[in-house]
Amino acid sequence: MADLITLDTNGDIETHIHGVVSDYGTLCCIAIDGDSDSGIVIEATGKKVDCEACINMWKSVTQVKKSQIKLIR
Ligand SMILES: [Zn+2]
Repeated sequence: MADLITLDTNGDIETHIHGVVSDYGTLCCIAIDGDSDSGIVIEATGKKVDCEACINMWKSVTQVKKSQIKLIR
């Protein structure tokens, strides 16, 4: 199961896809490093992704077949 992360970003609580391949905490590039513009991680088990940006990225990515990707190591 994909790793999800729920953040409080200036009072806006949303569940995102975790940003495992970047320095950001979420796929939609919200930081969780404690700076003033970063989100605060909150415990929220059982949540589903409700961040529109993460959902739109997921929709785009799932349209691409693995055979269309040149994997780079
Ligand atoms: Zn997001």
